Amino acid sequence: MASQTGSIVQDSLHALLEDTSFLPQLQKESREQAFTSLASILSTPNKVHKSFLRISLENGKVVRIPAFRVQHNNTLGPYKGGVRFHESVNEEEVVNLAALMTLKNALHDVPFGGGKGGIIINPREHSVKELNLICQKYVHYFSDILGPDKDIPAPDMGSGDREMDWMMAEYKSIRPGEPYRGSFTGKSIINGGSLGRREATGKGVYFSFRYILHDFLKDQQTFLENSGNTFAKTVLHYKNRPLTIAVQGFGNVGSVAALEAYQCALLQNKVVSVSDRNVMLYNSEGLDIPALIGYTSKNQGDLPTTDVQLSECGIKADILDRDQVLELDVDVLILAALEDQIHQDNMKQIKARIIVEGANAPVTGEADKYLSDQGVIIIPDILANAGGVIVSYFEWLQGRETQFYSEEEVFQLLVDKMKATMDTILPQYFGDPFPLRQNCYIHSVMKLSTVLYRQGKLY
Ligand code: GLU
Repeated sequence: MASQTGSIVQDSLHALLEDTSFLPQLQKESREQAFTSLASILSTPNKVHKSFLRISLENGKVVRIPAFRVQHNNTLGPYKGGVRFHESVNEEEVVNLAALMTLKNALHDVPFGGGKGGIIINPREHSVKELNLICQKYVHYFSDILGPDKDIPAPDMGSGDREMDWMMAEYKSIRPGEPYRGSFTGKSIINGGSLGRREATGKGVYFSFRYILHDFLKDQQTFLENSGNTFAKTVLHYKNRPLTIAVQGFGNVGSVAALEAYQCALLQNKVVSVSDRNVMLYNSEGLDIPALIGYTSKNQGDLPTTDVQLSECGIKADILDRDQVLELDVDVLILAALEDQIHQDNMKQIKARIIVEGANAPVTGEADKYLSDQGVIIIPDILANAGGVIVSYFEWLQGRETQFYSEEEVFQLLVDKMKATMDTILPQYFGDPFPLRQNCYIHSVMKLSTVLYRQGKLY
């Protein structure tokens, strides 16, 4: 399926055209014009860098692997975003993911712009040595445009701390004597990474949902009751109820979010289903998430696929087809796999009333509109999955200061940052008829437009 990521970015931006009061500092007559220049700034990346990484494989074959680095926008600071290693990566997708990074960083007041990288490979089909070579070549080709104050890559789907360590080492050898610690984030701790970075996205995903459905609901019950807005009604419906949760994707984001939900005794939620690229597991009494994480850590990240494997690790669950996870009768669906998972063809079958976007753009524009019109709360990617880039920012700062925070400090800073964003956005969201995604976009675009206006780049 062609990537729909672009259309959701564009659709949400165009929804803003309907209310140009989002640029209060401008004269009414000039708002439309300002919007047009802003829309063009945001819909086109500043630069798209492409290359073919020439690698000699261990079997002697020489291959040319397509690779990208997209620098979308640097209004707020150096370009920032992960490098995706996946066989389905394409240029359009990387451009759209880079645009999301611009909006994500603006939303959470992280002083970075938006960027993204992509390498078209299936990392499972390469040896460790080949993967190391691919990382070295990537940095070799793009070293001129990367750097702590230019563009800072990080892990994304298919990459992790090992790849960031390799890339940083290559950068350091290409640019001797220059600061290198802040050139990549998501590194291993021993190489200057931050404690808590690995868990940050999954923890933030769970926190965003927990904050809306618990803390905000508890503190703002009267406001929600008086609002009459359909999303406020959805939240109130769940007051003091234990929730059933399904998680699509059991990688770094899905497994950590599932574990957070499993451990959060306060809310008595039950993770009844998790899925990965092979299977979906289901148990109406709740799954033993720590046991599943124990299993995946010994089996290349894959969930058990047979009854024998399940019983070996003492897990009780039914094994079902992986795509059924989306249509389960649960309260909450955490999407932590690929983009475009909920679309026109399956949107009417979705039963969850709360959808949390752990992945980037897992819901297409049409599905987003359809579900939002039904009062479904969709906690959008730029709000829910920002934990990774927020802790990347802390890592970048720690690298500059060569002073490191404890894991507890990192998680506290993360929660404070996400809470500050939600405290700004949620009163607006529950008071007006726009979905949460639109509210987040409005906030990000307002921030960008104000900065551009003050810099004399928007009239
Ligand atoms: N790849 C992550 C994201 O999509 C993290 C990016 C970063 O840390 O720069 O948000």
